[in-house]
Amino acid sequence: MKSSQSSDSDSSPVFSSTSITDEFDLEERSWMEWFLSLKAHDILVEIDEEYALDKFNLTGLMLDDPTYFQDALALITDTLEEHEKLRQGFEREKHRHNRVITTALQMYGLIHARYILTPAGMKKMLTKFQRGVFGKCPRTLCQNQVMLPCGLYDTPRSGGLKFFCPSCEELYEPINRRYQVIDGAYFGSTFPHLFLLTYREHVTKNPKEVYIPKIFGFKLHPSASFHLVNSS
Ligand SMILES: [Zn+2]
Repeated sequence: MKSSQSSDSDSSPVFSSTSITDEFDLEERSWMEWFLSLKAHDILVEIDEEYALDKFNLTGLMLDDPTYFQDALALITDTLEEHEKLRQGFEREKHRHNRVITTALQMYGLIHARYILTPAGMKKMLTKFQRGVFGKCPRTLCQNQVMLPCGLYDTPRSGGLKFFCPSCEELYEPINRRYQVIDGAYFGSTFPHLFLLTYREHVTKNPKEVYIPKIFGFKLHPSASFHLVNSS
């Protein structure tokens, strides 16, 4: 998987279809198992097949190219039959194959953003949170508070994944470089905040602690604030 994303303003396709199809080796696994086993995908949860098959949940998905919507959905939710069909058609229909895979990748991400707002999806995210999968806040006074994945936008390819710290309530770029290739829309802008409302007591025991600069043990007068001095 290659990263071509350098900033929010230059957020070209998050998943490289070429490299992802190069890695496309399902063996005896389902597509979803294969997809979730990819390196950066350990922060994604498995979507219940029933949820993905409910048309209501798929309404208005903002796919780049919906041409292969049904094929991609079959790939995500079906098992080996659809994979075998794709594998057999790989050589003679390589272009189609690549487009189905690319659509399936984005489709999974966008369904995922909806699924993690449901009670079942949120519970799976809680398990990952409790295992520390999402990483810890780099801010010293947050005392290793585990963060939550978050997107600034709900539209795909508008910006990469960020992490929200429930303690300092700040957003951070992924510390682990492998998460820099994930589209923020696959988690969405609502998730961490709804999650906090639901699981506040599980999430943080650290009240926000503010760093107080001191000289020889004495608090600085507000007029000595670095920002004030520089803005005057
Ligand atoms: Zn923090």
